[in-house]
Amino acid sequence: MDPILKAARVCKQEVNAGELALINAQALRPLSAEEVFTFRLAACDNQVDRDNERFTEDALKEMADLFVGRPVLMDHQWSARSQTARIYAGHVEENGPAQRLILRCYMPRTDKTRDTITALEGGILRECSVGVAVRKSVCSICGANQTETLCQHRGGREYEGKRCWFDLDQVADAYEVSLCAVPSQPEAGAVKSKRYGGQEPQDPDPAETGEAEAMLLARAMQEQEEKRYGGMEE
Ligand SMILES: [Zn+2]
Repeated sequence: MDPILKAARVCKQEVNAGELALINAQALRPLSAEEVFTFRLAACDNQVDRDNERFTEDALKEMADLFVGRPVLMDHQWSARSQTARIYAGHVEENGPAQRLILRCYMPRTDKTRDTITALEGGILRECSVGVAVRKSVCSICGANQTETLCQHRGGREYEGKRCWFDLDQVADAYEVSLCAVPSQPEAGAVKSKRYGGQEPQDPDPAETGEAEAMLLARAMQEQEEKRYGGMEE
């Protein structure tokens, strides 16, 4: 089952006693409020996205549980060394007409994590993607589950006045969240999704898209972390 990647967003999260208790359920040793940096990820919702897919409300609830304990990584590195934070809680909340998955994350405040925390606080690392696998992807036109039978309908097209999209349901696993650096333009750094095992699009040339500086910073930070980071390895 191939992971589906969706763009998400980093927001602020305060540390209080309740949050700290949830964090310490994940931590290797008890941490005080001063020792942790927390943030929340406004992850996926149940609205049809640019890939013509939407998660069902049940899928969002399943992810809220499955993501607890999962790592937050830099740039899709799957090694433990690139782990920068951990998800300690998840919930689904109303966002206007939408239901949205919120993942709360923490990282210890150490010399090793200081640069990453600064990047998060400064809004440089504010886009991320979530990787999940689903058992069902149901066509809104004919109801065919695409993980079993591919139908002829194309997402985003209209068939007799009805738009085609795919309902993602029955989450099999939630793997990770990956943070990436983005410049001032809100959508510039959003990560494209990979659908049903298809090829991921090539990264655009950073120089062409004006992201050179942010991408270089992200790479430098990642290299730095690979050299220095060791605090949260298992
Ligand atoms: Zn169909």
